[in-house]
Amino acid sequence: MPSNPSNPSAPGDATGPSRRIDAERCDAAEQVAALTREFDQIVESSELVSTDDEHDPEGATIAYERAKTAALLRSARARLADLDRSLERVRQGTYGQCAACGGPIGDDRLEALPSTDRCVDCAARGRGSAATPGVAAP
Ligand SMILES: [Zn+2]
Repeated sequence: MPSNPSNPSAPGDATGPSRRIDAERCDAAEQVAALTREFDQIVESSELVSTDDEHDPEGATIAYERAKTAALLRSARARLADLDRSLERVRQGTYGQCAACGGPIGDDRLEALPSTDRCVDCAARGRGSAATPGVAAP
């Protein structure tokens, strides 16, 4: 396996994939921060209104908003974790290599989905552990 242990470039100053991943990662981190703030606000406002959720229509709306924001936050965090793993793969020199079959993932796919670790065939087949279903394989 090709190894490049003396890679001095930090993510961000390298060309190609890590720059792309870094930009995506930045975006994902902002999303996580924004959703976290939003979630906190919903929790706060739900503490201000009556706790009688079952009979209060506003309580139901807040519960819905809260569940929705929590779901968005989960997927934003999953995306961030995916991108972190991608950066790790760039450092290890395995980025762009399918984690399931070992074949090349392909530039087009990596450009569209910088955090994917499956080639298009494996993603379609749903091979591998699929740690983040739906994120890497739209
Ligand atoms: Zn594959």
